[in-house]
Amino acid sequence: MRVIDHLNQAKGKTLFSFEILPPRKGEDINALFHSIAPLMEFKPAFIDVTYHREEFEYRKRPDGLLERVITRKRPGTVGICAAIMNKYQIDAVPHLICGGFTKEETENALIDLAFLGIENVLALRGDAIKAEGKFIPTHNGNEYATDLIKQIQDLNEGVYLDESLINPAKTKFSIGVAAYPEKHFEAPNMNAELHFLKKKVQLGAEYAVTQMFYDNEKYFSYVAQCREAGIDVPIVPGLKPIATKAQLKVLPSVFHIDIPEELTKAVLACKDNNHVKEVGIEWSIMQCKELMKKGVPDLHFYTMSKSESTKKIAEALF
Ligand code: FAD
Repeated sequence: MRVIDHLNQAKGKTLFSFEILPPRKGEDINALFHSIAPLMEFKPAFIDVTYHREEFEYRKRPDGLLERVITRKRPGTVGICAAIMNKYQIDAVPHLICGGFTKEETENALIDLAFLGIENVLALRGDAIKAEGKFIPTHNGNEYATDLIKQIQDLNEGVYLDESLINPAKTKFSIGVAAYPEKHFEAPNMNAELHFLKKKVQLGAEYAVTQMFYDNEKYFSYVAQCREAGIDVPIVPGLKPIATKAQLKVLPSVFHIDIPEELTKAVLACKDNNHVKEVGIEWSIMQCKELMKKGVPDLHFYTMSKSESTKKIAEALF
């Protein structure tokens, strides 16, 4: 089923969903299943699977020189989606990015998804390759999420890159996109952030999932600004319970988000990371209760393929 249909059919009830990462190359898929199995009792409406592009690495050769090699540490997004749908009969949402794909490769990936019965895609630009510092679009690829959405919508209308196809099949992807209550770090200001989110919706995105946030007021204010700007699609809050002291530095620097002073103080006062986990769970439950009270359509958890904290939060809510 399409995510937008799940959201529309919930009729005021808050759904539960979560995001996982494909296992590292060489790891067994059963470890992933084992990790997410405890979340199944909460009947997730859908499960997102992230996409990880190639990275450059420098490896020492036997002669001592460094060699630049290209690796993909977490391949398997499409395979994991198909496996989840097969094993649990739960809708899977593959993330699809612009970076590293030509338009031809994107089209072929979408055809694979359609053949597998996957009707959902989260359309993203993707980040820069670490060694490159800024996002460089692939030659003959899509530059922004807006371009990718346009390509997916084209397929939904039966328009393929090869215009000579006779009576080509139409796909029926429900397209989700990313949204940033604290602004995407490259957007010069909040108006630009809203402008491009609106553009993504005008091109066919049916819902948005937010970057994680720890202060609900930022989400409420963002949604209000979206509505004022005429963006009327469901905006699903993304949540990630804090689990380590190190995340106080890592999360703001990687995701460009703030961590409220009260939460920071509580984490710093913890004797160890087990204690931090408890604080993170409590904070998340508090956030979720308020979000549910305000009638959010879904609570979407960034689990990083670890279910312990999310399970405790779900137990308190659903
Ligand atoms: P875009 O919407 O393309 O925006 C990128 C920047 O360009 C923004 O600053 C925007 O204001 C600006 N912009 C947008 N459109 C235009 C335009 N047409 N012209 C000029 N400027 C424009 N990354 C991964 O690699 N894999 C994942 O699986 C993944 N999953 C994610 C899931 C969620 C819910 C979120 C919030 C993020 C995820 N990311 C993932 C990270 C994401 O790829 C990065 O945040 C990336 O930097 C931006 O992606 P986007 O789709 O928001 O980009």
